[in-house]
Amino acid sequence: MYETDENATPGVPNNLEAFWMPFTANRQFKSNPRLLVAAKDMHYTSHDGRQILDGTAGLWCVNAGHGRAPIVEAVQRQVARMDYAPSFQMGHPVAFEAAAKLAAVLPGDRDHVFFTNSGSEAVDTALKIAIAYHRVRGEAARTRLIGRERGYHGVGFGGISVGGISGNRKFFGSLLPGVDHLPHTHDLAHNAFTRGQPGWGAHLADELERIVALHDASTIAAVIVEPVQGSSAVVVPPVGYLQKLREICTRHGILLIFDEVITGFGRLGEPFGAQRFGVTPDMITFAKIVTNGVIPMGGVIVKPAIYEAFMTGPEIAVELFHGYTYSGHPMAAAAAHATLDAIKEEGSFKRARELEPALEQGVHSLKGESGVADIRNIGLAAAVELEPIPAKPGLRALKVFERGLEEGMLFRFTGDTIAIAPPFISTRAEIETMIEKLRVAIRAAR
Ligand code: PLP
Repeated sequence: MYETDENATPGVPNNLEAFWMPFTANRQFKSNPRLLVAAKDMHYTSHDGRQILDGTAGLWCVNAGHGRAPIVEAVQRQVARMDYAPSFQMGHPVAFEAAAKLAAVLPGDRDHVFFTNSGSEAVDTALKIAIAYHRVRGEAARTRLIGRERGYHGVGFGGISVGGISGNRKFFGSLLPGVDHLPHTHDLAHNAFTRGQPGWGAHLADELERIVALHDASTIAAVIVEPVQGSSAVVVPPVGYLQKLREICTRHGILLIFDEVITGFGRLGEPFGAQRFGVTPDMITFAKIVTNGVIPMGGVIVKPAIYEAFMTGPEIAVELFHGYTYSGHPMAAAAAHATLDAIKEEGSFKRARELEPALEQGVHSLKGESGVADIRNIGLAAAVELEPIPAKPGLRALKVFERGLEEGMLFRFTGDTIAIAPPFISTRAEIETMIEKLRVAIRAAR
């Protein structure tokens, strides 16, 4: 299966150098590679033949389990029937059907979907739509974008500009002009070890009023937030916080974008965070779960008024000068169809809700283990924040992660926080196993 030489470790390619790995400590990885070579249902197989329980649904995406036959077969059928067709001035049925099925996941049936290939592209697309929307309505001065500290919105220039994780920003120059940030809501003095939504922190949404007063509403196009901050390790919105953001945006004619790349399609036990928190944004970005990770796909769902604002000029004119060669790719659209069917047939949203208490109870049982600074959870997402080893930030979480792998368990770590995102097909017993393996790994990582 791999090109190997006589001295190579079985299953490990003999050239690890050519692939510059994303968001990876390349030298550390390549000195001790961790390779996955097969996957089925809840498990990966590692290159040395071990079974690894998938505690992060791949990268928050494989929720119907690995190698799900109906999804794999839908993609196989589609690639055999028609591998590719353009979506510029042409169309193919499967993309239209997938868009209709996606829009139906939200209440109301008139939403519109713009397809991209990733969450990063979805975010940059939403930001561009926001600015262009105001322009086509005659409010061309509305160009400012407001993000949030600790926010993760992918890696495009738009996404890192509104994003709030300094490591993702500091290497890349001055980024987009005209961007401001809300404060984040993570405060251990008030919110440590909260189960679900913290009671403290809704007032931090009022900072948006301060930003509006500073720049004037007439210059602001949109506010973008993740309903639950995922990549900066499961920061759950305080009770009432998102409602306040909605209210302030509405009052000032500012579009509210929910980046639901992680929270979309069931992670919070509802179709979207919008439903879980009872707040309706003007646009939603999605990716990840929509194809169960099988084929890359992302997109933006926009409310009817936004789409309609563009449908005004001459009918032969292109309304939005934006799109990707692979927008609505037939295989991605086929995978989305099959994934949405699987979600519906299996009642995945309900299942995620049913499993939530097991994850909550399990993860909070880690309180008191040495070095645990905070634990937070909502839906099927949880994080354990560890105290950093002095002068070596990130090392403790790396040790937990590596020990977890030895124990046959895949977690996700960022900084010194470990995240768990069980696939929706997990059993209660598997969630308990994840927690116990995490306990072993935390105890070992002193
Ligand atoms: N937005 C959010 C909220 C995300 O969590 C992510 C990825 O984790 C992205 C955007 C970027 O998605 P992608 O990696 O598909 O570009």
